[in-house]
Parts: sequence; C-alpha cells; structure tokens
Amino acid sequence: MPPVDKPSADKYDYIVIGGGSGGMATSRRAASYGKKVAIIEAQGKLGGTCVNVGCVPKKVMWHAADIAEKIRHAKNYKFIGDGIGEPKFDWHAFKPQRDAYIRRLNGIYDSNLQKDGVEYHHGYARLASPNAVEVTRPDGSKYELHGEQICIAVGGTPTFPDVPGAELGIDSDGFFDLADQPRRVAVVGAGYIAVELAGVLHTLGSETHLLIRHEKVLRTFDPSLQDILTNWMEKTGVNIHKKTNVTKVEGTKGGPLTVHTDSGEPFEVDTLIWAIGRHSKTADLGLEKVGIQVTEKGDIPVDEYQQTSVPSITAIGDVGGKALLTPVAIAAGRRLANRLFGPPKFKNDKLSYDDIPTVVFSHPTIGTVGLTEPQAREKYGDAVKIYKSNFRALYFSMIDEDHKEPSMYKLIVVGEEEKVVGVHIIGLGSDEVLQGFGVAVKMGATKDDFDSCVAIHPTSAEELVTLR
Ligand SMILES: Cc1cc2nc3c(=O)[nH]c(=O)nc-3n(C[C@H](O)[C@H](O)[C@H](O)COP(=O)(O)OP(=O)(O)OC[C@H]3O[C@@H](n4cnc5c(N)ncnc54)[C@H](O)[C@@H]3O)c2cc1C
Repeated sequence: MPPVDKPSADKYDYIVIGGGSGGMATSRRAASYGKKVAIIEAQGKLGGTCVNVGCVPKKVMWHAADIAEKIRHAKNYKFIGDGIGEPKFDWHAFKPQRDAYIRRLNGIYDSNLQKDGVEYHHGYARLASPNAVEVTRPDGSKYELHGEQICIAVGGTPTFPDVPGAELGIDSDGFFDLADQPRRVAVVGAGYIAVELAGVLHTLGSETHLLIRHEKVLRTFDPSLQDILTNWMEKTGVNIHKKTNVTKVEGTKGGPLTVHTDSGEPFEVDTLIWAIGRHSKTADLGLEKVGIQVTEKGDIPVDEYQQTSVPSITAIGDVGGKALLTPVAIAAGRRLANRLFGPPKFKNDKLSYDDIPTVVFSHPTIGTVGLTEPQAREKYGDAVKIYKSNFRALYFSMIDEDHKEPSMYKLIVVGEEEKVVGVHIIGLGSDEVLQGFGVAVKMGATKDDFDSCVAIHPTSAEELVTLR
C-alpha cells in the first residue's frame, strides 16, 4: 500500500510514531479492535531496525558464517572433492540477494497494514501537542494528525564515540551496507552486536580485531558465558584487544585506516565498525512541547503500562531503554493496544519484563534467561545453588581437537525446592534450545520439574534435564 498524502480523518483513535517492530504490532492490534489508526514512518520502508538493519539481515549473515564452518568441518566427516574444507564466500554476490529478501519483507509489512486497515504516513513525526503530531513529508511539506492516543515507537540508533577520526568508521547500519567483505576489520565494543558482527566476519575469513574496554565480552551476561566465549573467540583467531580504548583513527573513508589505541601499537584495517551501544531517537521529537523529560541517556521513562508522564502519550520498544529486543517491543505494543482499545478483560494488560529469554548469535551461540549468578547471589545469598556441565556436543566427536567447540550448560536454582531462576547455555544449537526452557522458567519450574522430563537422546539439550 503506498503511504497516504494527508490525514483521512479529523481525529484518529491512535497515532503511532515509528513503523518498526513495536509500532507495527501496536497499530495492527489497535486496528483489529476497529479503531482508526495512523502510523508514521520516516524511512519510507516498514519494519524498523530488526527487519532492515538488525535481527533479520544479521541472522542471514550468521547462517552464511555457519555454512562456512560446516564446510571446514566437512573433511573430518570424510567428504571429499573441490571446495571441501575451504569455504569461499562471495559477499559481493550475496548482498543483493539478502537485500532483495529484506525488500520482500518490507512489502509484506506494507500489505499487512493495508489488510488491517492501518493508515500509513511516510514522513518524519514530531509531537505538536498532547493530541497532535506534525508530519514532515520527504518533500518538506507538513500536515498535522490529531489523535485520542499517541504511541511513541521511534526505536534507537547506533552511538558514535567522540574520538578524532571516528567518522572514518561505520556502525552496524553501515555493516549491512558493505558491498564487499573487508579483508581486515576492527570491531569496537563488547556487547552482543559487536560479538555477533565480529563472529560473522571472522568466520567468513576476514582478519578480525575486537577491541574491548575490559577483559571479557558480554559483560552483562553470566560470567561463565563471558569466560567461555572470550576464550573460544581468542582460540579461534579473533584478535581481542583487551582493556583497550581507541584514541584516534586515521586514513580515508573506505580506504585503509590506522587505528590508534591506548594499549599498544597502531594497526591497519580496511574497515572499522563502532558497536559501542545505541541511544534512543528522541532528540528531535518535540518532547519538550508536551513536557516529557527524557532520562540522561535520552530514553523516555514509562511506567509498567508503557505510560509516559502525559496521559495521552505512551511509549514502547527500544525508546524505553529496557530489554532492547524485537519480541519485547512487539509484546509490549500488542498488550498496550489490548489495554487501550481491547475488551474489558484486557483493562490491566501489560508486559512482564521478568525472565525474558534471549540469544546471542555468536560462534557458538548463547541462550540465557533469568538471573545471572552474581544477580542471584545478590538477591538470594546462600540459598543459591549452581548446577553446571561442560561438555562437547556429539557433532564435534568427529572434528579435529582444535575445532571442537565448547558447550556449557548452567542452572541457577534457589532454596530447598530448588526453583530455577537462571538458565545460561552456550554451545551448538543453544539458540534453538532455549525457548522451551524459557517457558519452564516463566512457569516457575524447579530442578525436580526439569529432571522429571525424560531426556531426548542424543542431543545437547538433554544435559539440562540431567544435571548433577
Ligand atoms: C545489529 C542489530 C542486531 C539485532 N539483533 C536482534 C536479534 O537478533 N533479536 C532481537 O530480538 N533484537 C535484535 N536487535 C534489536 C531490535 O532490532 C530492536 O530491539 C527492535 O527493532 C526495536 O523495535 P522498536 O519498534 O522499538 O524500534 P525500531 O525497530 O528501531 O523502529 C523504529 C522506527 O521508527 C522510525 N522513526 C524514528 N523516529 C521517527 C520519527 N520521528 N518519525 C517517524 N518515524 C520515526 C524509524 O525509522 C524506525 O523505522 C538487533 C539490533 C541491531 C542494531
């Protein structure tokens, strides 16, 4: 459906700013209750970060890297012939194919809005009053939409540091623009996006430097996961520069760059990727006109019902600064629409932010839900007990010692009944294993409940129901 040129109604029930994960979900749910809904998206393509420059193209690249690993392993499984053991990835040919898939998804999002009767406006939105939004179209023309309720779902954007030459680098959005694979790359950051991008590039054959400020990657994750992944990345050849800050970048954009740090000699790469964090897109949203104050980081504070300080304005997704994940934005958005416009049974509907499972598409993958060990010890003290197993997935029994990926499964339980408050796993298939265990934790399962489920053999997942 092409975006509309002007408002079709004097007043909407619901105006949603941002056509990403959260905005799409909340607008469609509201429309399903027969409400008059408008969604405004600045980019002219729907789906937001996840579809265009996040989860989806990232996972496609992870799959490409995973195939490269399997090709390397194939000779151990006695496959023979040309190409076995030597993956050659044609990034230049693959990118347009990946982009075409994303465009197809954008089209599906368009038609979903149309099917549900949500009116799509292409333009940049700013709050004009507690019940009005000014839309600036790409040609500069403006109009106003008026609504009973306004939901802010503008998401975030990567943060660039303030160091000389920072602009010579790119961010995660720029990673998805790369037409060719960089031969040598520096990724700066220790969070999951840095780890994932470095992992893909390294596995596909780029000389990869990962620059982190402390000793370990993924510092908000359980320490066992930090240890295993940091060690494995180093062992497989990622150059991890620890306790390192970039002090200066020199060179020309797109050309070789010299990276200066506070921890060693300068070194040269072809591409530098900043993955040091993200911040909310709230700087130019007209928040001051309605009296909404942002936090120090620029996020919009909301209560447990996604309510801002202005009664007619709510906010969902990354802009709230909490659990920056697509399914969180979607779930919060749907529940918000239920509460605002749904039947009476939903009058208190809200998303619980407890025990949100999440995955890191590292090599090997990580899955995690609930409290980390330090968080559990802080909350429950001596009542905490740890069950842990280090093992190799059966798949690696046929693989060279040097390439046998580690697996580690850890359960954090509390009290005499041994309620499971944390599950942290790393190893082959962890990304797919975790979801069901997330359900169990959400239901309040105990260690006995885990153990009462008969193991599925031979799998890695069975370790979680047989821990001693
Ligand atoms: C590299 C990367 C990998 C990721 N991988 C995963 C993953 O594997 N799993 C996962 O769950 N999450 C992942 N995420 C996070 C996920 O993408 C976000 O949590 C999710 O997209 C947040 O949804 P949102 O609706 O809050 O914002 P967004 O999806 O960012 O959507 C916001 C939209 O609002 C629009 N907008 C902004 N300002 C305005 C304005 N003033 N007027 C009109 N429109 C505006 C933007 O153009 C954008 O389309 C990843 C993120 C990145 C960057």
